[in-house]
Amino acid sequence: MTGRRVLVVGAHPDDEVLGVGGTIVRHLDRGDSVCVLLMTDGVTARHGETEPQKSAARRACALLGVEDVRFVDLPDQRLDGMPLLEVIRPIAAAIRDLEPHVVYTHHRGDANQDHRAVFAATLVAVRPCGEHPVERVLSYEVASSTEWGPPCPDWAFLPSVFVNIAKTLDAKVAAFEAYRQTFESEVRCFPHPRSTEAVRIRAQATGVVAGMAAAEAFMLIRALV
Ligand SMILES: [Zn+2]
Repeated sequence: MTGRRVLVVGAHPDDEVLGVGGTIVRHLDRGDSVCVLLMTDGVTARHGETEPQKSAARRACALLGVEDVRFVDLPDQRLDGMPLLEVIRPIAAAIRDLEPHVVYTHHRGDANQDHRAVFAATLVAVRPCGEHPVERVLSYEVASSTEWGPPCPDWAFLPSVFVNIAKTLDAKVAAFEAYRQTFESEVRCFPHPRSTEAVRIRAQATGVVAGMAAAEAFMLIRALV
């Protein structure tokens, strides 16, 4: 099916690339439109300039082919201390505006509290009501957050959807490299999970689970068929 509208919700600049980068290119290649909604600038809690982070996000998304990048400017690393309604509101507004068929959001068991708040807010924003309910909602994983959650079954990331990114992995890595010139570079040295080598290894390790050379994995939260 072509011409789907896709919304990727991320707490911080770089979440979209780490979680969905290769899949975003697959969507665009088949004629879908993609909007990336970033809830925080990713640096206010670290007292850095926000503009380098935002321009890195624009560059990274441009490398993936995404033109529609929106910033909400909620406070970084503080979403869990805000009324959830304030996190829900901008996501719900984007859904009203875009009427997306597919929404990608964070995993509820991530170590990062902003990710968990974005998951909870997205779940409310995609309630299946109204004339254009979201058809598919999926959670994505983010390196150094999803695997660093507590070892509790309830928090586990249990992927059920695998997207083959063998042909788009180079674009994902190139987009991730755009975050090298940020406040505290988001691109770390191997063996950090946020190194370019680890991004490739993770994609390969995820891929072989499903007989693919490289993949991104998702938990299907809801599908309306
Ligand atoms: Zn994040």
